[in-house]
Amino acid sequence: MMKHGDRVAVAVSGGKDSLALLNILKNILRGIDPELIAITVDEGIQGYRDESLNIVKNFCSMIGVENKVVSFSELFGISMDRAMEIRPSEKISSCSMCGTFRRRAIDLLSESTGANVIATGHNLDDYVQTFLINLFAGDVERIGWTYPDPVEYGIGGLKKIKPLMEIYEKELVLYAVHTNIPFQTEECPYKDESIRSAFRVHLNNLEKIHPGIKYNAYKSILKIAKRLKESPANTVNTTLTTTNLSTDYVIGQEHRKCELCNRDSSNKICSVCRTLNILTEGN
Ligand code: SF4
Repeated sequence: MMKHGDRVAVAVSGGKDSLALLNILKNILRGIDPELIAITVDEGIQGYRDESLNIVKNFCSMIGVENKVVSFSELFGISMDRAMEIRPSEKISSCSMCGTFRRRAIDLLSESTGANVIATGHNLDDYVQTFLINLFAGDVERIGWTYPDPVEYGIGGLKKIKPLMEIYEKELVLYAVHTNIPFQTEECPYKDESIRSAFRVHLNNLEKIHPGIKYNAYKSILKIAKRLKESPANTVNTTLTTTNLSTDYVIGQEHRKCELCNRDSSNKICSVCRTLNILTEGN
């Protein structure tokens, strides 16, 4: 996933997964390339993000890793709190908007630091939940796009890697507690809009009765995602709707530039600009 001479931007939110990832990378890469930098996105969620920004700042200074922060307000002129106030419909879910802006913010911040690799703390539970979310939403093509190869994309060939993809969430909690990593436990006030929480509960209940079932599901999903990714029918949905905000650039697809911001996009207008249009113009 990484090689000598790389500059790796680790996306660190203040939660256990991303702090564990940063700590693990710092330990295994001690004294050798590649170079690490922690990047953090401030979504602008009062009473939630402020605490985690401090946790990240203190942890980074303790382990000697530079931390750079950027906010939604700086980049897009709007905070998550404000976006939630002015969105024209609840069909535009909090996590859909937040995820769309956060992915762009991570790309922009990584590019500004000169990084050529972005590492994120996605774990096995995240991946299985994401599969179920896409399945139940009828987004079959998107399942193929989640195949977790290290992927080259974006301006300057930024590569995205997910080193914790095969690790259970509970193992990361155990690691963080065991190594005394101070992580945020406060939950986002907007999280209940996402069906992800419901899938997390169901999958954890299943795992209690059938230990290992999440890992089995993960291995099966990988096979399905790989087949779908390689399928010629795996095309981009170019219909612009308020519920389809996050489709941007897909590996293997012919891509172009967003007509508004000039970033890579498979559609004429990228997901970030579509979301901003919906928020400001209501369309
Ligand atoms: Fe953003 Fe949703 Fe996560 Fe809250 S729970 S930080 S709204 S993605």
